[in-house]
Amino acid sequence: MAGIGVFGGSFNPPHLGHVHAVQAARALLDLDEVLVIPAAAPPHKAMPEGSPDPQTRLELTRLAMAELPWVRVLDLELRRTGKSYTSDTLRELSAACPDQTLYLIMGTDMFLSLHTWHEPEVICALAVPVCLHRTLADGSDALLAQAERLAAQYGCAPILLDNPVLELSSTTTRKLLALRGGAACLPPAVWQAVLDRGLYGLCEDLTGLSYPQLEAQALKRYDERRVPHALGVVQAARELAGRWGASPEDAARAAVLHDVTKALRGPEQLQLSQAYGIVNAPFDEAHPSLLHAVTGAEAARTVFGEPEHICQAIRWHTTGKPGMTTLEKIIYLADYIEPNRSFPGLDAVRQAAETDLNLALELAMEGSLRDLARRGIEPSGLTAQALSALRAERNIV
Ligand code: FE
Ligand code: FE
Repeated sequence: MAGIGVFGGSFNPPHLGHVHAVQAARALLDLDEVLVIPAAAPPHKAMPEGSPDPQTRLELTRLAMAELPWVRVLDLELRRTGKSYTSDTLRELSAACPDQTLYLIMGTDMFLSLHTWHEPEVICALAVPVCLHRTLADGSDALLAQAERLAAQYGCAPILLDNPVLELSSTTTRKLLALRGGAACLPPAVWQAVLDRGLYGLCEDLTGLSYPQLEAQALKRYDERRVPHALGVVQAARELAGRWGASPEDAARAAVLHDVTKALRGPEQLQLSQAYGIVNAPFDEAHPSLLHAVTGAEAARTVFGEPEHICQAIRWHTTGKPGMTTLEKIIYLADYIEPNRSFPGLDAVRQAAETDLNLALELAMEGSLRDLARRGIEPSGLTAQALSALRAERNIV
């Protein structure tokens, strides 16, 4: 089955997943060549703030594909004005090579939404839709149903390729780059160019920021829905610091950074800790959801240049540990009692926080342990040790 592969996208930035995708498609479909076509203005989504211009994305894509002689990176969508519609691109390509079969290569998300694109009937008439299974979580039922739907509606014969999985996306890559941890996602030449040109904010000095500047930078790295939580923790931490003799400024800085890496999922957490050179304890490695405390502390240290006592408060906000400093206790507690939270037993912890910091912390840790037990999640041994230490401090055995 010889023919020409067509692979479009915003390539923001081009990453190793793209390289694997064209390699897999070429091998499985026995293609003569693959045309890689960066979009000038992707019709499906607005380009995120701070994205490189189309010409730069084209140049990065050329670097990414430089070692694949059967790939041609084309600028034809950059030469058009307006939205970069795939139907227009396929019209140009099929006019240029009328005797060739075109295979439109795309990932799962794009395949599942193909009927909503601009002129899907033109797309399906001019090219064979090819879906690469991109993630392990791909539901094959949904893919089969979509293939049948496209076949029935547009008379095409979509191909589902079961290619080796490389769990990576441009969104993930950008999130990792924003935390200075994305090198392993990129072909080396792309990484070098991103670094040399300071793309994706890589050369921005984020150390020594004032609190408002730090807050703005930190919140950009949160999932939008977690921003109220971060600000709630800042408010609670400032109040606790005022009451219990810690610096409200330090408390606010630790609080706004405490979940700064939490937008990353498990595998990405592992990737970030690798990029930071962190050797994880086996417990942390097995519980990637807790890793955000470890990677968050390292991000505070290396990206934002925060002093050690602030990084440590972030490090221990999920598990606690014996011998916590006042700031560490405050961040743990603020995370638990911040104003957006509401669950049974919380009022007692909030009341205790006004009269006895250690008692409040004990109640919060007991509550966390109960919650983990209910959800069948193994707790870190550190929380139990922290509780014993606190009880000993209050002379309760
Ligand atoms: Fe957290
Ligand atoms: Fe939190």
